Amino acid sequence: MLFRTTCLCGKVSIELHGEPSARANCHCSSCRDFYGVPLFSATAWQADNVRIDSGATRSFKHPEKDMTKTFCENCGEVVFGTNRLGMRVVPNAMVARATDGSIQEHWAPTMHLFYRQRLTDIQDNLPKYLEGWDGPLL
Ligand SMILES: [Zn+2]
Ligand SMILES: [Zn+2]
Repeated sequence: MLFRTTCLCGKVSIELHGEPSARANCHCSSCRDFYGVPLFSATAWQADNVRIDSGATRSFKHPEKDMTKTFCENCGEVVFGTNRLGMRVVPNAMVARATDGSIQEHWAPTMHLFYRQRLTDIQDNLPKYLEGWDGPLL
């Protein structure tokens, strides 16, 4: 499947090929600091499956951690990040923009990660891992 979406100003267009490897809400303090959000809701992809179709981007590497974010030069929106595993993580805001403001069921988050570090409690039925998905649940 090919999915296309754009940043807020429309100058950067990205293509998502196939299906994500993981879908999660991450509550870790690294994502919070790096992306400037209380929790980072995103899909994770094999790097080759997330491609910039058009538009000028810049990247910024975290000063200490193995994380990079790539953003539109014009509006500053993060179009994807790169995590320590080299996967590209696409913010759900980018996806929702192309699908009438909602996330399609098959791309919706399936879990909460690093819930121990949360700023806010979440009321839903998804599994809440206190750390990574190989660790203990709430
Ligand atoms: Zn833009
Ligand atoms: Zn995180």
